[in-house]
Amino acid sequence: MISVEEALEKVLNYVEVLRPERKPILECLGQVLAEDVCSAIDIPPLDNSAMDGYALRAEDTRAASESSPRYLVVVGEVAAGSMPTKEVRTGTAVRIMTGAPLPEGADAVVRFEDTDEVSRKSSRKDSSQIGILCQAKKGLNVRRRGEDIAKGNLILQKGTVLRPQEIGVLASLGRSSALVVRRPTVAILATGDELVSVDQPLPPGKIYDSNTYTIAAEVSRYGGVPRILGIGRDSVQSLSEKIAEGLAADMLITSGGVSKGDYDIVKDILAEHGEIGFWTVCMKPGKPIAFGLISKVKGRKKRKVPHLGLPGNPVSSMITFEQFARPAILKMLGRKVLAKPTIQAIIDDGIANTDGRRIFARVTVTKAGGSYHASLTGPQGSGILTSLARANGLAVIPESSKGVKAGDTVEVQMLDWGEEQGEIRKSPLVAIVGRSESGKTLLVEQLIAEFKRRGYKIAALKHSHCGVIEVDQPGKDTWKFAQAGSDAVCISSPRKLALIKKSDHDLRIDEVLPIIGPEFDLVLVEGFKKSKLPKIEVHRKELGNDLLCSPEEVSAIVTDGPLDTPLADSSKVPILSWADTAAIADFIEKNFVKAVGSEEKCLP
Ligand code: AMP
Ligand code: MG
Repeated sequence: MISVEEALEKVLNYVEVLRPERKPILECLGQVLAEDVCSAIDIPPLDNSAMDGYALRAEDTRAASESSPRYLVVVGEVAAGSMPTKEVRTGTAVRIMTGAPLPEGADAVVRFEDTDEVSRKSSRKDSSQIGILCQAKKGLNVRRRGEDIAKGNLILQKGTVLRPQEIGVLASLGRSSALVVRRPTVAILATGDELVSVDQPLPPGKIYDSNTYTIAAEVSRYGGVPRILGIGRDSVQSLSEKIAEGLAADMLITSGGVSKGDYDIVKDILAEHGEIGFWTVCMKPGKPIAFGLISKVKGRKKRKVPHLGLPGNPVSSMITFEQFARPAILKMLGRKVLAKPTIQAIIDDGIANTDGRRIFARVTVTKAGGSYHASLTGPQGSGILTSLARANGLAVIPESSKGVKAGDTVEVQMLDWGEEQGEIRKSPLVAIVGRSESGKTLLVEQLIAEFKRRGYKIAALKHSHCGVIEVDQPGKDTWKFAQAGSDAVCISSPRKLALIKKSDHDLRIDEVLPIIGPEFDLVLVEGFKKSKLPKIEVHRKELGNDLLCSPEEVSAIVTDGPLDTPLADSSKVPILSWADTAAIADFIEKNFVKAVGSEEKCLP
């Protein structure tokens, strides 16, 4: 039996990000941008009015008030969508509508409400004049040309997941299409002699095929295109024919036929036409799963189609889809965040773990008094699909635990939350790794200074292997509290905050980040070399040629001399110079920080 993580890693190793395609923007929702998008225009294109009012020269309103209006001659009017024909000279104003371009000479707009227009109209006074009732500053109610988007700037970065607002931004740039990573097509096949399609009458002893529909809806939900193959019978011939039909897709998902009773069929087919990946995963429900590659000859090319054989029980089928097929589809779509967001919740029911598998229990999560509560959705049989229909989360009971009792805290995967939801408020981060004495600390220091110069809010995180951290110095009050047994000690002063929290294990980066908080423009991490963080390796030539990480693990290498390793020849990993802190900071900025509307200019 392999763990859920091992199984997922195997699946993800087999699937690749698909090629990009150009499509109309309205069809791109949820897809990943495969190009940097720069603006060819300024938005707004001209200085324009943010209000309905009068465009004027601010200096003409000096000391104006309700009791002492300044009177200006109205020389014209300009509506949104047309160009002004009159200039504003001293002592004059142009009536202007929201969005209309600011006339030459004007530098502020005073709203109708701050003029005597209404009383003037009702008393049928001369409309060629207007009384201004307030003093305006230069720039009042003026939207500057390019204040949203400046011509030439990088507006959306390659890798951005397109949400409605990004699709709107593309439209505002005048783009009707975008280059995005293609959606994967997923062929779906139900197997079993007992299955009947929903449009047929139900003979005795048969059941309706529900897995096809759950799976197809899941595929659509996560951005794939489902191709329904129908129902395959429990015979090698029937399944082989159906599977052959599914090989045009980017992935094939079957359900059923993998449990003890009849799994030989799917296994035989995989053995004949491809490779078997794995069969049992340490999870419940969903232990029997098949994963493999089915070879396909297309013209002269041989292609391998990943095949995920989910268990037949409807609950197991959806839960295993969530754990393995969902991340595979997201990876093919070019998405970077593959994990479902999780929360910590107080469980209302006890759950026993008798056979040491990871349990995914169906729960309803509610929020009360500032904490999440999870309660089981009734009987947890893997055939009871309504237990999933009532659930909005999956409580995860680790394989190492004997179970939980009511009142314990459990981790819950939130089924209806988007993957990015768990990511949104994290500060971007990059780890600086290297052998000891390679100068990691010095580089982090220099980068902090460089980023502060660039106006960043920076956090620095150091990973230490020793148990005593400098801040808990003997004799200090915080030390005394810790000695007395407190699990966490926090000291707060008007200008600083420090926290010392006991931990029974070496904390993972994802456990540390929430404590640091989401408000930083960048977190520079020293160490955590085993984590999956983006990493930059520091190298000193006096330490020889050995590197700590393999080329796949690092985004760049910073070195003070030529590197004599095969890695140096691989153009894949950029090599940066120790002496050039600004270039290293540029690299970090470009690859790990920049987001929508950055000031970065696109290359011509
Ligand atoms: P299997 O994995 O083929 O042994 O199936 C396990 C259980 O899931 C059996 O009770 C099947 O009837 C049920 N099952 C299999 N496929 C489906 C399906 N497509 N829709 C609903 N139930 C199914
Ligand atoms: Mg079956």
